[in-house]
Amino acid sequence: MSASKPTCPNYSSQHTVKNSSIHNQKPKYQCQNCKRQFVQNPTNKVISKDTIELIYRLLLEKIL
Ligand SMILES: [Zn+2]
Repeated sequence: MSASKPTCPNYSSQHTVKNSSIHNQKPKYQCQNCKRQFVQNPTNKVISKDTIELIYRLLLEKIL
């Protein structure tokens, strides 16, 4: 199972391309669907389901 390609946080799309790296060495990606730029955490840390739900809730509260 390959986890190298980041997923767009908006549409769960994998139509993402690597953009230029930013100053803190983390690679930056851009979604081809919605043009959203995002940085994926390069560490292979397992995020708990609770944390994911919390992040999504915070995102929704900020967007809506
Ligand atoms: Zn997208």
